[in-house]
Amino acid sequence: MVETRLIDGKAAAAALRARIAAAATEIKVRHGIVPGLAAVLVGDDPASDVYVRSKAKATREAGLASVEHRLPAATGEAELLRLVASLNADPAIDGILVQLPLPPQIEPQRVIEAIDPAKDVDGFHPQNVGRLWSGGTALVPCTPYGCLMLLRETLGGIAGAEAVVLGRSNIVGKPMAALLTAADATVTIAHSRTRDLPAECRRAEVLVAAVGRPEMVRGAWIAPGATVIDVGINRLPDGRLVGDVAYAEALAVAGAITPVPGGVGPMTIACLLENTLRAAEARRR
Ligand code: NDP
Repeated sequence: MVETRLIDGKAAAAALRARIAAAATEIKVRHGIVPGLAAVLVGDDPASDVYVRSKAKATREAGLASVEHRLPAATGEAELLRLVASLNADPAIDGILVQLPLPPQIEPQRVIEAIDPAKDVDGFHPQNVGRLWSGGTALVPCTPYGCLMLLRETLGGIAGAEAVVLGRSNIVGKPMAALLTAADATVTIAHSRTRDLPAECRRAEVLVAAVGRPEMVRGAWIAPGATVIDVGINRLPDGRLVGDVAYAEALAVAGAITPVPGGVGPMTIACLLENTLRAAEARRR
C-alpha cells in the first residue's frame, strides 16, 4: 500500500515567510523603505480579533510594518470609507485589509470597492477578480493562493489534472477555480445545489474542499491517490478543530492530504505577507 503524504502547511508557510523576510530586507537596503500593511477591524468579534492579531504579529516577524486600526462596532460606513481613503493615500501603506465580517450597517462590497486595487492584499476588489479570471497580473485572495502553492509543491505541475472545488464563495471557491484554470487543470465547481456530490468528488485527482461543513467529505468520496486540500476550519461542540474532510477516512485513500490544523491555515497568513510584498514592489516599479 502506498503511504499517504501529509502536506505540511506549517513548514511550507515557514519557508515562505523566511523568503519574504529576506526580500523585505533587500527592499529596505535597496529602496530605504519598509513595506507596510494596515489592518482595519470594526467591532469586537473575538474570532476577527484573533485573526487581526496573528496577522499583525506575522507581519512584524517578517520585517514588514504593521498598522492596526480598531473602530467601534457602531462605526458608520462613511467613517470607514474615510479611513480607507486615507490609507489609499498614505505612501507608507502598501497593503490594506479590512477584516470581514463587518457590522450590519456597513455594506462590505462598497468597502471592498473603495480600496485601491494596488493595495488590495485580500484580492477581493473587482479589478483584481477580473484580472485573475482574464489572465492578468492580480493580487490573489490569500487562502486559494496558499492552496495553489501547496498543490504545486506536492504535485509539481497540475496541467490537465481533473480538479474539483467544493464551494463557490468569493473568498475561496471561485478564486481557487480561477487559479486552477490558469494552471491548466480541468476544473469543476461543486456547491450546495450540485446533484451528486460524492460522484463529482470521486472524479477528482485534485480535490479542494471549502464548504464549512465538518467532515462532510467522506473517504468513499475520494479517488484512490487523489490530492486533497482541506480548507475547512470547523469547531466541534467538544472543542476539537476539524476540516471539511473526514481526515482518518481520507488518509486511507488519498495520495496526499492537508491536515487541519497545520495545512491551509498557516499558508493563508503567509500569502497575505507575500501579497503585501508584491504590492510594495509593484508600486515602486
Ligand atoms: P462560505 O460559507 O462563504 O461558502 C461555502 C460554500 O460551500 C458555498 O459555496 C456553499 O454552496 C457550499 N456548501 C455549503 N454547504 C454545502 C453542502 N452541504 N454541500 C455542498 N456545498 C455546500 O464559506 P467560505 O468559502 O468562506 O469558507 C469555507 C470553509 O473554509 C469554512 O470552513 C471556513 O472556515 C474555511 N476557511 C478557511 C480559511 C483558512 O485560512 N484555512 C480561510 C477562509 C475560509 P452555495 O454557494 O450553494 O451556498
